Amino acid sequence: MPRRISDDIIARINDENDIIDYVSQYVQLKKTGRDYSGLCPFHHEKTPSFHVSQDKQLFHCFGCGASGNLVQFVMRTENLDFVDAIKLLADRAGIIIPEDDGFTDDNHEKKKRILEMNKCAARFFYSCLKDKKLGEKGQQYLAKRNIPWKTITVYGLGYAPDSRDLLLKHLAANGFSVEEAADGGLAVRREGKIYDKFRGRVMFPIIDVRGNVIGFGGRVTDDVKEVNGYKIPKYLNSPETAAFDKGRNLFSLNLAKNSKESDLILCEGYMDVISVYQAGIKNIVATLGTAITENQAKLMLRYAGEILICYDSDEAGVKATLRAIDVISGAGGRSRVIKLGGAKDPDEYINKNGVEKFKEAVRKAVPSTEFRISLIKKQYDTTTTDGKIMFIDEAANVLASVKDAVEADAYITKIAEDTGISRGAVLSKYREKTSGNRHRRIPMKTEYRKQTERKERETVRKENTTPTLIAAEKRLLGLMAQSKKLYKIAEKRIKPDDFSTQVYRKLSRLIYDSYDHDNAPEPAIILNSFDSDELSEASEVFYNFEVYDGDEATVAELLNTITLEKLDIRIKNETNAAVLAELFRERQKAIEEKNTWED
Ligand SMILES: [Zn+2]
Repeated sequence: MPRRISDDIIARINDENDIIDYVSQYVQLKKTGRDYSGLCPFHHEKTPSFHVSQDKQLFHCFGCGASGNLVQFVMRTENLDFVDAIKLLADRAGIIIPEDDGFTDDNHEKKKRILEMNKCAARFFYSCLKDKKLGEKGQQYLAKRNIPWKTITVYGLGYAPDSRDLLLKHLAANGFSVEEAADGGLAVRREGKIYDKFRGRVMFPIIDVRGNVIGFGGRVTDDVKEVNGYKIPKYLNSPETAAFDKGRNLFSLNLAKNSKESDLILCEGYMDVISVYQAGIKNIVATLGTAITENQAKLMLRYAGEILICYDSDEAGVKATLRAIDVISGAGGRSRVIKLGGAKDPDEYINKNGVEKFKEAVRKAVPSTEFRISLIKKQYDTTTTDGKIMFIDEAANVLASVKDAVEADAYITKIAEDTGISRGAVLSKYREKTSGNRHRRIPMKTEYRKQTERKERETVRKENTTPTLIAAEKRLLGLMAQSKKLYKIAEKRIKPDDFSTQVYRKLSRLIYDSYDHDNAPEPAIILNSFDSDELSEASEVFYNFEVYDGDEATVAELLNTITLEKLDIRIKNETNAAVLAELFRERQKAIEEKNTWED
């Protein structure tokens, strides 16, 4: 349980941050009735099913089930844990968290300083690039790569002059010490001295989805590989700092997330992204000089239905593509591969063939399974029997990793047709590889799948419940949470342990507990006690707006429904005649009671 921060502080953070305000940074919200709604940031959709309630300070998506309070929204959008999300919100509201609250705030302060310093550096690099003399080499390089000023401005590109301390001086004039510059990755310590890290390089600011400059990539302007025996890397990136986590960010996602396309193109380099972007294709991102991580895949899947991998066409690129396919699949997503014949990367492809050809290549991107099978096929001579056997053996390995049984089946047919081996033989090879994997089903988007899995688990757990019972308990809890008067009536007849799901029992304990301490239960605070897999179910109790209203009669009716449903479940499972008779008598009584207030 991540509650290391006092309730007091959490309450203040909730009071001083408005969920509508915060969510609006990510989602264009429109007022609809008593709620706000917009396109869900957690799954891909074309019609808004994402709702935010100002009264309750909660969000809920009727499409994918994502749900929770502001802290949980921050956790998901920023990839933060509970404590860091609280820190971010505290900081935003100018609340200082006391040190004895279990953690210090050093890291957060540091991060803020680095972001300010990076912004200052980005402006400096940009102004250097614009300068006729200082930026000459940078200008020449970008002109050679056909990058116009319009694009330079969109990306905030710049130039780091070939100097040991021009940036350091500029930072000092703006209140940043050399130590800060070194700690923030803009300067390097060498033999007891501190120098500018980036010298004589075109600068690519790396900007997160909130618009912060979190780091830089710098490229040399000529392809000199060595100076005085020192190796000069073509690209130099900021090191990881308190503000820069390479594995959790992507170049240009800040721009790509606004594209209307449903997929994201993933490529290798900054120049690829820029070249494709200025050709009018905006849904493109790149990793930051490292192989793709699972966190990056998850980040992309938040904005994309499928990821289209567009890596270099050389051997290293193919290897990286295979790895990316695995990582994306591991993150619960689907990918396709864009094939660029006759060019080594997207930048070269567009310069050679034009934008339309590139768009065509994007449309023709092949599913990752097909890509993997085609690579295997290249290794064997499938005109020979031996070649066929080995090809089918390896291809079956690939198919065994395909989660979608229908998709696997389609490939089995295709392989049989391509090789002239009977479908039955290919199928039995496939079965051999998959025996032991019981769960084969159609893959869905991560979020949706998680939710389905949760619901499946619930159903098993809830054998002793019915949809009517759940609906009645949900609405009753919602009413109890919003009115002390209704709570008072209900708590005489139903106790936390009487609720039929684990989440409802936990939630009711928290609600009862609040009233016991003379507090009105606050949904946004209560939800902090739930883990991500319980959250949606708990949050729906508060976010149940079609049945917000109710009075004493509603409570009586709900309690009656709950009693009747429970009796029906017991009757269904009871075999002892005497007990059954008693249950039927109780049932009759409940029905009579129901009739008295229905008249
Ligand atoms: Zn959603």
